[in-house]
Amino acid sequence: MNEPIKTVKCVVWDLDNTLWKGTLLEDSEVFLLDQVRPVLAELDARGVLHAVSSKNDHDLAWARLQALGIAEYFVLARIGWGPKSKSIQDIADRLNFAYDTIAFVDDQQVERAEVAFHLPQVRCYPAERLPELPALPEFIPRTVTVDSRQRRQMYQANLQREAEQEAFTGPSEEFLRSLNLVMRIGRASEKDLSRVEELTLRTSQMNATGVYYSDGDLRAMLNDPRHEVLTVTMSDRFGPHGAVGVVLLEHNPAVWHLKLLATSCRVVSFGAGTVVLNWLIGSAAVAGAHLVADFRPTSRNRIMEIAYRFAGLTDEPCGCLTRLRPAHDADTQRLHLTPEERPLPATMRLEAPRPAVT
Ligand SMILES: [Zn+2]
Repeated sequence: MNEPIKTVKCVVWDLDNTLWKGTLLEDSEVFLLDQVRPVLAELDARGVLHAVSSKNDHDLAWARLQALGIAEYFVLARIGWGPKSKSIQDIADRLNFAYDTIAFVDDQQVERAEVAFHLPQVRCYPAERLPELPALPEFIPRTVTVDSRQRRQMYQANLQREAEQEAFTGPSEEFLRSLNLVMRIGRASEKDLSRVEELTLRTSQMNATGVYYSDGDLRAMLNDPRHEVLTVTMSDRFGPHGAVGVVLLEHNPAVWHLKLLATSCRVVSFGAGTVVLNWLIGSAAVAGAHLVADFRPTSRNRIMEIAYRFAGLTDEPCGCLTRLRPAHDADTQRLHLTPEERPLPATMRLEAPRPAVT
């Protein structure tokens, strides 16, 4: 089988004679090339980010992007006189993207060669291929979710948040409070399924079982009254974090079975996993049910076991365990807790209904 094509997550664009016709510092006027706006918009809607690497006067070039009405598309711009390989490296690092998820478009062969030499994993395209980029397989993500469409805003918000955090000198809890974090936990709808599936795929460190649930599996659980599929989203004063967690729960009158908790690595520093877990424990307490969580160790999810143990889940035996269907495989551990009400989180506002009790 062929290796699947790695999807491009960010396109880095040259300006002169790539996005616009003309050389800003030499020509009296530059014009946006025909296909530029639709190509930027189409890739943006798919969740592919855009950035700029240009040898130009920074303020002048940025002002021109604004005047042309396309500046908002770019999450980062490196406009100056240094080598382009350096600015692309910088952009990839800021976004925390691997080089093999970056594309570079430039009309100058010497610039593409410089980038290809220093960063061989970056895919380089000549400017004249711009109109065909959206049709290339590497620019077509496997899934396009609600979050793909707001990915640019999420990254822009995150860059602002990081800048503010670097400048913040007080204790970290105080910084968290200053963000006005809001977490929403709610029942997944059909249109949430793709983002839930994507989360179970991507959250290798914070996935309690390492089990991947397909769209079909999730759809079956949505339609099964014994199961509850919950999505966790977060936002703060900088903007949305998008979907950051998923909870799969099977209800028994006497015991709630947490089959999966997965949270995004992006929100680990906000203690998101613990907030979800405490909310679940408090809800089970109100319902008078015990809580059992599946944990299956993988090479990467030790942090999730720590979160479970820290929340008070243990290996203690309990009669309720016999009410559960047997685990899929021998590696799955069942951690147990007799729940009590938990205090509300101190660093964020929680908007969550109590899960339905059957
Ligand atoms: Zn029990």
